[in-house]
Amino acid sequence: MSKKKNDDKKAGRYVREPGFERLSAAERREMESYAGCYMDFLGKAKTERRAYAESVALLERNGFKPLAAFKSLKPGDKVYRGYHGKTLLAAVIGKDGVEAGANVVGGHTDAPRIDLKPVPVAEKGGFAYFDTHYYGGIKKYQWVVRPLALYGVVCRKDGSTVEIAIGDKPGDPVFMITDILPHLGQDQAKKPLSSAIEGEDLDLLVGSEPKAPGDDKEKAKDKVKENLLAILKKEYAIDEEDFVSAELEIVPAGLPREVGFDRSMIAGYGHDDRVCAYAGLKALVDLDGIPEKTAIALMCDKEEIGSVGATGMDSTFFENSMAEIASRRLGAGYSDIFLRRMLEASRMISADVTAASDPLYASADPVGNSAIMNAGACVNKYTGHGGKSGASDARAEFLAQLRATFEKHGVVWQIGELGKVDHGGGGTIAKFMARYGMDVVDMGTALLNMHAPWEIASKFDCYMTYRAYLAFFKG
Ligand code: MN
Ligand code: MN
Repeated sequence: MSKKKNDDKKAGRYVREPGFERLSAAERREMESYAGCYMDFLGKAKTERRAYAESVALLERNGFKPLAAFKSLKPGDKVYRGYHGKTLLAAVIGKDGVEAGANVVGGHTDAPRIDLKPVPVAEKGGFAYFDTHYYGGIKKYQWVVRPLALYGVVCRKDGSTVEIAIGDKPGDPVFMITDILPHLGQDQAKKPLSSAIEGEDLDLLVGSEPKAPGDDKEKAKDKVKENLLAILKKEYAIDEEDFVSAELEIVPAGLPREVGFDRSMIAGYGHDDRVCAYAGLKALVDLDGIPEKTAIALMCDKEEIGSVGATGMDSTFFENSMAEIASRRLGAGYSDIFLRRMLEASRMISADVTAASDPLYASADPVGNSAIMNAGACVNKYTGHGGKSGASDARAEFLAQLRATFEKHGVVWQIGELGKVDHGGGGTIAKFMARYGMDVVDMGTALLNMHAPWEIASKFDCYMTYRAYLAFFKG
């Protein structure tokens, strides 16, 4: 640290500046290596299901075993529990007893995207389209005229499942949502951004070649659709009705890339919130020895649409998983009250991204309280909307504990809030966890272009997010 910054910190001043100079040469190397691992994960984890599969593989490689395989648990045991291939909890059992609670880092692996409708295949004017319904908070105009990939599953009546992943392998075709040319787009150009591209018009272009007419020349209608369905049948053995039981997600095609001549940033799809979810999981996997308190990493689904559903954090998955852990630790002595005590005594970092100050849109910043890129992992004491509505608002005592922990472990961190008072806001899984009475605070990586098809994070902040979660587990 520079002498001035050192003096400022010693004097108890709040320092929020790019923190590169606080890294040793060894930490720089570790940062680059971490960024490489994360980019690899992000490129493979294009959906919540793929994030889950990659995460389970990482856990298995590091000696974690399914919780169901354990009759009883002892300190040092490494376990995980998944649900529907989407939501995942992994734990390293600590030395302290059940009633001491756990240190939890929880992020989400779903990201804003465009889903297919249940009856998606349509033909219009000689083109075949997939009809869609977007998922999460997107700016619709950002999703047109860019190469798109298709990922997901199609579940057949016979119980079999086809995995679809088209658009990222070399030689794969891509898909696209078209836009009108500027020459003819004068009417569109007069509309506000929010309505220039309507949600119902986000139709994905998936084909243009009609099926050869053959003998049935009379029925020349929908020949492009017919050709498409024939290809789907031949290549994937799926029928039109199989789309009813499918989850297919349209995401940007392409893998994460370094940004800038200095390569200091990472552009990728789905940083929100794979950047924090991965950091929590990696911190858990990298934890040396046996922690005092049980350490838990949580990767959940459905955050972007309000944490609803069986795989969202408004479900009982977390509570049930904690009960599974507590009952295996206590054996015959287990009763519900021990679970309640465990939940209430736990502490949690709700691991989610926040907005980084963008000089091109400086008027959106809460001056002095915005997150700055490269200034480390960002704590949000509260999120919510006007008047903190909907926020869990962390307790000051908990924040003081975290400040001490981060100082002890050399974590570069900052504190911020999402936008000016009464101008915007947001929500995370924090409030769903706070209902158990546990201390919860939001903390994660600050992004440029949050919720855009490509978001930007800095390598430094990604690395410091990981370091913050590791420090939290260590205590
Ligand atoms: Mn998020
Ligand atoms: Mn989000």
